[in-house]
Amino acid sequence: MMPVPLLSKEQIARLPERAREVVEYRKSGLSLNHIQGCPIDCAYCIRHTYGLWDQRRPRALMTDADAAAELVNHRYFQPHITPVQLFNRATEPFLPKVRPHTFAVLEDLDARGLTNHVLVITRHQLKPYDIDRLNQLRHLKVTLLFTYSGIDDEQIEPYPSHVAAESLKLMSAPARRRYRTILYWRPLVPGLNDTDAHLAVARSLSKHADATVFTGLFYRDEIAEYYRANGLPEPYDDTARRKIVPETLEERVLQTFAGATNLFRKTSCAVSYVHGLPDYNGHYGIRELCDICPLSQLKLCADAHRVPSAEDVRQAASVLPEADALKVVRISQRAAVVCGLETEQPRYFLQHALGFQVHDVDHPHHANRHGRADIGWKDTTAS
Ligand code: SF4
Repeated sequence: MMPVPLLSKEQIARLPERAREVVEYRKSGLSLNHIQGCPIDCAYCIRHTYGLWDQRRPRALMTDADAAAELVNHRYFQPHITPVQLFNRATEPFLPKVRPHTFAVLEDLDARGLTNHVLVITRHQLKPYDIDRLNQLRHLKVTLLFTYSGIDDEQIEPYPSHVAAESLKLMSAPARRRYRTILYWRPLVPGLNDTDAHLAVARSLSKHADATVFTGLFYRDEIAEYYRANGLPEPYDDTARRKIVPETLEERVLQTFAGATNLFRKTSCAVSYVHGLPDYNGHYGIRELCDICPLSQLKLCADAHRVPSAEDVRQAASVLPEADALKVVRISQRAAVVCGLETEQPRYFLQHALGFQVHDVDHPHHANRHGRADIGWKDTTAS
């Protein structure tokens, strides 16, 4: 029997269109989301943007076996290459009812001998049992990312941050383990969780993790509406502040972490680092990103950095029907700039296939913003 109820075809047909898309490319990897629904209710949850906010009870759109098969047979999936994210869009992978599904999918993929990265993002309580079960995986490169913000406003984060902190400590403690741990320090919101005391606590927590990523808030229109409708203090209402604060906040974060050699701005950089591999998103060309990276990692990324030719980009895109209209606008040391792609998903596919940044000409990246939006942290996610 499935721990989580399986929806009927009719129920699935009534879901919002994007919620029905069980495999979807997102910045840090190909994301599998056949279970949707979460009672944790973080006010800034991405579920808002999929029309799933009201879905608090996890439900399955298909069995785990069917979901794993759909993932590995997806046109975007490349064995051993494509980074995978499990349940990062619509549920929490270690909710008691969801946990058996998380392990079922991991074990299914592992039994296929796949060595892909698998990112599992959680804020839930983990148990010693989870250590043992994860340690039985033989092939996958599993990274647990513990979402921790230090926000103590229960209206914004009803689920207390200290749970994720304890889980991080528990899962990082074994001297021998097959998975890696990351302190996923986010969302950093000016005025909410950026006092010196907050920064110091995060620094001390980071000492338990294999690496730390810091990033801002994914603050889309739907989420802003939720803040307003619920009378929550909106993090961004002053244009001047929007422009200034993130930069100074970043400086303070770097100062607090002075001397640390495992702090990263990008999820993919941290995930690659903890497995001793070059960044799978090819950020090395964006030189200003690498100024906080340890020398050994810089060398790994430098050695792996290959600027593709326009023909290489076209060749990689040739397997995707939706990339028929792709044109390579220019290629530099930093990125291949393309046009003609209607959605972002094929771009992420190309990025991972080439191990090199691929940007859309309509969404230019600006130096020193590291892919962040022009306005402060708005629309910021780590990639
Ligand atoms: S060297 Fe640059 S690209 Fe490589 S992991 Fe470090 S920050 Fe990322």
